[in-house]
This record gives sequence, C-alpha cells and structure tokens, in this order.
Amino acid sequence: MQIIVLGAPGSGKGTQGALLADRLGVPKIATGDLLRAAVRDRTPLGVEARSFMDRGLLVPDEIILGLIEEVLRSPEAQDGVIMDGFPRTLAQAEAVEGLLADRGSRIDRVLLIDVPEDELVKRMLGRARAEGRSDDTPETIRKRLAVYGEQTAPLIRYYEERGLLTTIVGLGTVREVADRVNEALGR
Ligand code: AMP
Repeated sequence: MQIIVLGAPGSGKGTQGALLADRLGVPKIATGDLLRAAVRDRTPLGVEARSFMDRGLLVPDEIILGLIEEVLRSPEAQDGVIMDGFPRTLAQAEAVEGLLADRGSRIDRVLLIDVPEDELVKRMLGRARAEGRSDDTPETIRKRLAVYGEQTAPLIRYYEERGLLTTIVGLGTVREVADRVNEALGR
C-alpha cells in the first residue's frame, strides 16, 4: 500500500500520516524528519539542506531524490509506505513514480489534508511557540506557504487527473480528521 499524504505546512499531514502508518502497519517516511535528523547530525547533506530549510525554501530535488531512493529500497519499506512531505514538486512526483515502477509498484492513493490558510498560519505560530522549530517563525511560515502554493499545490491537479486524489477536510480534532481518513480508505 503506497499512500501519499499531501497538504500545506501545518495541515496535520504528519500527525495523520503517523496514525495511518500505525493502523496499516507500514512505515511512515517523512523527508522533513530525515532532513532534520541530517541537520542535527551535521552530515554534509544536513549542512547543505539547512540553508534552504531555514529560509522556508524547498531543498533541491537531487538531494531529496537520493534520500527517497534510499528509503524506498530499505527492507522495511517493501510492503508499502506512507509518504509524508514528499513528493513536493512535479519532478519528485515523477521520480517517485519511476522508483516504484522499477519494483513493480505504484501509488495507490493520495490524501490531501485540506485546511484554510488562516488556520494554517494560526497552527504554525502555535507550533513555533510549543516546539521551537527553527523554520516556524512568522517570516518563514509565510514563505513556506507561498512555496507550497507555487511548487507543491500543482501536485493536487496532477494526482486528480490520475484519479488518485481524495480530499479530506483537515479541520476539527485529530480524531475527527483520522476518522475521515479511514472512511476515505474504506477502513
Ligand atoms: P516538513 O517537516 O515536511 O514541513 O519539512 C520541513 C522542511 O524540509 C521544508 O520546509 C523543506 O525545506 C524541507 N523539505 C522536506 N521535505 C521536502 C521535499 N520533499 N522536498 C524539498 N524540501 C523538503
């Protein structure tokens, strides 16, 4: 089962992706988490990625594709994965498709967690205070939302055209959204 959880920063895609991964018994792969770990460990990849992340920009596709290829090849990922935070560009979407096709697999469903922009900003400002994430400042929040609109939102149409997209209303409690996700997947 290959599922992509798509959504703007602050939409709750990470939380919902984790719940879904638990329920389906497959790993959740989040490029944001992998990048933050690389930044924390000060690997060469982390050092390079950090300059983009701190500015609210996307990390270049070549870096992300290397990461994705590695995780999709790992033994844990063989029965499917929940992809959280990637693909984030059309180039990444095409590359993921190719990598899965190479192993006779394909995307089963794309869940768009849909949350209005004013609510996204409110949530991210709250998270900035609670978690101290260095990319959750008001300035980078605005930038990340703009980057989402320009570079990631085109994926909505891309997956809609392929008949893979299901939109989930991302407002309400975590439980309410999770129930909608389950319903959308018929579970
Ligand atoms: P996230 O935790 O998914 O919000 O990701 C945090 C930051 O990591 C983003 O603002 C980007 O700078 C970077 N990032 C995470 N995933 C990707 C991706 N698939 N492509 C490019 N940049 C990414």
